[in-house]
Amino acid sequence: MTGYAPESLLYNRDITFNEVISPEYREFLWNEWKRVIPRKAPFKYEYEITTAQGERKRVLEMGQAIYNEKDEVEALEGIILDISERKKMEDNLKFISEHDTWTGLYNRRYLENVLARDAETVSTEKRALICINVSPIQALTLTYGFNYAQDVVKKVADALRMHCTDKRQLYSTFQNQFIFYVKGYEDKEDLIQFCRELVGTLESILSIERIGGGIGIIELNEDNKCDMGQLSKNLLVASEKAMNLYNADIGICFFDDELEAEVIREEEIKAELARISFDENYDGLYLKFQPILDLRTNKIRDFEALARINSEKLGLLMPGEFIPLAEKNKLIIPFGRKVIIKAFEFLNKLRENGYDSVRVSINISINQLVGEDFIKDLFNLIDEMKVNPENIVLEITESVFASDYFEINRILGMAQKAGIKVAIDDFGTGYSSISRELELNVDTIKIDKYFSDKLLDTNNTDPIIKEVITMIHKLGYDVIAEGVEYDEQKEFYVYNGCDKLQGYLISKPLDPEAAIEFMKNNCNN
Ligand code: C2E
Ligand code: MG
Ligand code: MG
Repeated sequence: MTGYAPESLLYNRDITFNEVISPEYREFLWNEWKRVIPRKAPFKYEYEITTAQGERKRVLEMGQAIYNEKDEVEALEGIILDISERKKMEDNLKFISEHDTWTGLYNRRYLENVLARDAETVSTEKRALICINVSPIQALTLTYGFNYAQDVVKKVADALRMHCTDKRQLYSTFQNQFIFYVKGYEDKEDLIQFCRELVGTLESILSIERIGGGIGIIELNEDNKCDMGQLSKNLLVASEKAMNLYNADIGICFFDDELEAEVIREEEIKAELARISFDENYDGLYLKFQPILDLRTNKIRDFEALARINSEKLGLLMPGEFIPLAEKNKLIIPFGRKVIIKAFEFLNKLRENGYDSVRVSINISINQLVGEDFIKDLFNLIDEMKVNPENIVLEITESVFASDYFEINRILGMAQKAGIKVAIDDFGTGYSSISRELELNVDTIKIDKYFSDKLLDTNNTDPIIKEVITMIHKLGYDVIAEGVEYDEQKEFYVYNGCDKLQGYLISKPLDPEAAIEFMKNNCNN
């Protein structure tokens, strides 16, 4: 093991064992023996030796002292094992557990340890975390494959590494996410300046790929410095917000009080949505109903159900705020079911008041539609609540067809077979598949308020809206114009053969009782 022949070591002929021990360990070993001998304790120590060939070896020594009758030490005996291989493996494991194998950067676990250690030490240095979120790289995987995207990640890591200094350490904390731990900066402006440099570096790589990213910043303080879980969540929020900021491809955003308030509000709305969805005794959800005027008969034959939340804590909430959160948090299915139940209750109220041919239109999100058993559950509710399927309209936005046209069309076909009508909402605002797909299982197209607004701008002369109405009729669908607020708009739609109108000109969305009253006052029988 030592590379020396036994004779060389016997009686210290050529060399003493102490000299074989690498110098930096000698004193520790001496002290350890001194400690265990009076206690008659066993000795166990790991250290390094230098062999006759000059090679360093890691060894483990286990031994004990031999005592005579007078309790004096006569000799030390024991064994010394070569554990270099084991040590190498251990070092390797340590490296793997502290590094991201792809980029070679320290990983999240290591950063957590560094932060925990620094949180313990007293220092006046300012400290901040900067999260570089390049999650749009994910899109490259879909287009060009995994290896291509991974190479871009590597390029980003190598370029960011160039910005490392003693005071700025880089970590690869998650897939497509890096964190700079910055210490000893002057002020916010200093951080922003650094982030601008990072933006420049990132742009040089990402703009060729036609993708962007976001940079989120958190300054560490007494309150947040210990909670790595919360810190990474907030960093992610800030970096995602940065991605959607201004028109920059790579934005920069601080996690500050305002953003924190936004996150807290989102959490509260999420809790409200969950309570509405699952607590039978809680009644935070209610629906308003907006009348839709049938221009052919000049009567109200439809209402659109519009969800509202009356929260004990947050007051009145509008769907523009809570529906996207319900979708994001997978609560839209149970929440949407509650909406359907309330809409059916209103249908029954209409029938009790003698309006049994009036329809109620219900907004359905894509995730509801493709959710397991949507149709089965809908049919069950129809049976249970004894509503007439002919009085139900499902409103969906046309973007739903972009995801899985055949599956969605099949589901809508089943609804239609049962007598339910289908309307496409907000037509004209996004990707349009209507004119290309002749076999859509749809009855009505609702053209977006955008068109009604455009009429005002162009003094009722916009030729496109006229064409749109003609085209929809040619395809065999009815047309409802949304967002009608003025008489001039109504005149235009009447003149151009639009079938129905919805908007403040006819009525704002109404509570159920007011909606029934509205029917009575407008002689709709
Ligand atoms: P939408 O389905 O296009 O509903 C029409 C929106 O325009 C409603 O806003 C309505 O109050 C508003 N509106 C109607 N007429 C006028 C007008 O003349 N002028 C103006 N300025 N606005 C008018 P609301 O109630 O805030 O709903 C917004 C959106 O939220 C709805 O747009 C719909 O997409 C969604 N939504 C509402 N309830 C539900 C629901 O229960 N489930 C789902 N998935 N989405 C819903
Ligand atoms: Mg709608
Ligand atoms: Mg609409």
